[in-house]
Amino acid sequence: MIFLDYASATPVCEKAKAAMAPYESERFFNPSAPYLPAKYVREDYEKAKSDLAHLIGAKGDDLIITAGATEANNLAFSALATNQTAAPIALILATEHASILNTSKKYNTELVKVDKTGRIDLKDFQSKLNANVGFVSVALANNELGTIQPLAEIAELIKKERMHRLAEGNSLPLIFHSDASQALNLVPISVSRLGTDLLTINSAKIYGPKGVGALYQSHRAKLAPITEGGGQEKGLRSGTENVPGLIGFAAAANEINQNTKRKHYEYLRQILKTELKKSPIEPLFLGNEKHQLANFCPVSFPGLDAERLIYLLEEDEIYLSTGAACAASKGEPSHVLRAIGLNDAEIRGSLRISLGAQNTEEDMRFAGQKIVKAIETELARL
Ligand code: PLP
Repeated sequence: MIFLDYASATPVCEKAKAAMAPYESERFFNPSAPYLPAKYVREDYEKAKSDLAHLIGAKGDDLIITAGATEANNLAFSALATNQTAAPIALILATEHASILNTSKKYNTELVKVDKTGRIDLKDFQSKLNANVGFVSVALANNELGTIQPLAEIAELIKKERMHRLAEGNSLPLIFHSDASQALNLVPISVSRLGTDLLTINSAKIYGPKGVGALYQSHRAKLAPITEGGGQEKGLRSGTENVPGLIGFAAAANEINQNTKRKHYEYLRQILKTELKKSPIEPLFLGNEKHQLANFCPVSFPGLDAERLIYLLEEDEIYLSTGAACAASKGEPSHVLRAIGLNDAEIRGSLRISLGAQNTEEDMRFAGQKIVKAIETELARL
């Protein structure tokens, strides 16, 4: 099997599996229980939280552990709900993940333009960043294109707007959130350097268990609970702590070595691209060549039906995707590819290829040749 859809799922790494195992069995205790073995579990939970926070330059107390990035993104929007003034505006990109896009529909939201590589149009952003904006959410890296956004530049503009508000006596808070689910594996992150008040991270994308995520919360951002109950996670996300989940997440995060991985994936991707260029239809490589996660290789073969290519490749146990897995399963054209202005033929011919830990040089050559072969088969059929 050659798996080329790591943006949708990653297998749990050995270190995470080993770290989690005791908390599934002999250390099963509820960390809120009053006896000694449970108190040890609480200590281990808090230690894992601080290790994880350390990776993004934060403290354990700054993290709210959630059941995945979707939940963390939903919680981030509650920064708007805590505001009593009339419906402040949320600014997001049209290319955001469904967990941002769909949540934003509950609020007074405006979409900021992106260019054809998926990078934010900073001029458009600046023109929309007015006195009524209460929340900005921009993913550090997009989950279909791998395009990396200039968060520090966005943060600078936000800072200027805050200063302006101070001078004008406008007390509306302006909160900056970023979803770093896809980026954490490959981009060194420091919340203070990026200037974000809230940041989402996701265990499922970094070879940790699924259904665990976290939201970093700075002192500036006030949030409202997304679940009511026993008051866990600072009362914002009640429910018994997923101890094995967090322990596995932290162990997987501890294995991250962004710089080494980046070079490795750049090398593999180049091999794959060289093979794809042998296709009778010229490949249209998507995303931003300069600002792209190194494991992403989204590509379109305009005029072809990418879904048919996927079925053909399945016969060789090569697995890749069209758009984001959730959108692809609904058979809807990708809103991301629409937002970057691709035409129908380009969207229909788009493959989302994302590399991961198990891929080898040989895999890249083999998969590249098989994709070209599938294209030739399709062309012969048309
Ligand atoms: N945000 C981004 C950028 C993602 O890629 C994903 C997963 O595909 C999510 C959020 C949602 O993650 P989960 O399904 O683990 O909650």
